[in-house]
Amino acid sequence: MRAALRQFFMRFFKIELSNEVREQRIDVLSQASLREEFAANVSHELKTPLTAISGYAELIESGFTKEEDTRRFAGEIRVNAERLLSLINDIIELSELDDGYSEIEMEQVNLYKKAADCVSMMKLQAEKQGVSVFLEGEADCMVLANQNLIEELLHNLCSNAIRYNEKGGKVTISTHYTEDKRVVLTVADTGIGIPQKYQQRVFERFYRVDPSRSKKSGGTGLGLAIVKHIVARHNARISLESEEGRGTTIRIVF
Ligand code: ADP
Repeated sequence: MRAALRQFFMRFFKIELSNEVREQRIDVLSQASLREEFAANVSHELKTPLTAISGYAELIESGFTKEEDTRRFAGEIRVNAERLLSLINDIIELSELDDGYSEIEMEQVNLYKKAADCVSMMKLQAEKQGVSVFLEGEADCMVLANQNLIEELLHNLCSNAIRYNEKGGKVTISTHYTEDKRVVLTVADTGIGIPQKYQQRVFERFYRVDPSRSKKSGGTGLGLAIVKHIVARHNARISLESEEGRGTTIRIVF
């Protein structure tokens, strides 16, 4: 009886073990393929603006362009150079966040104050798009966080809420405490919304629902991937609620 029991456990254990080993292997393989896919995406994303810059520069260099065209081409070179800069900044940011060993400095941060700074910084961009930005909530919401990362998180969420909005639209940032004393940040907009089937995918690197709208508004496709990493670094939770044509609300619980 004992031997049978032992055999049963041995067998059971072996199966468990081989499953575990297999899972680890799958994990390593899928991480490697994710990295490869990211590298391929990065080269593709960088090549596009660089090809445009080099093409327009070549046209100007030829000396045959009319003055008005020369100006237009110079404008294209500037826009594409700016795009390249934002891409490089975001890629560096992501790879720093991805580096699990790097230490980040945590301190008590007043989230409401950071949100207020973000609102005043985004004011001009919002006005240009005919969107109003509001700030609500409790003024003393303190979180243990990294200052720079919190600024980046607020900026990315607020910028999305403005860019994927329409004239006359609203953005509301709010901070408050839950009953069990957790700090909650929400960024809600009355914009174009995200169809249900894409709602999980928008956190993936370089995933965009409408690539041309994203690019036209200066997006890199990395904003929400960065947000997701920042949230993870703070042991916080993020959720998204959205309805096409009605708007999006992103909620982070610290
Ligand atoms: P991007 O630089 O393209 O804005 P993000 O990673 O910030 O990249 O967002 C990924 C995609 O998710 C966007 O391209 C857009 O399609 C969608 N998205 C993000 N935020 C919003 C929002 N507030 N409303 C509607 N769509 C959004």
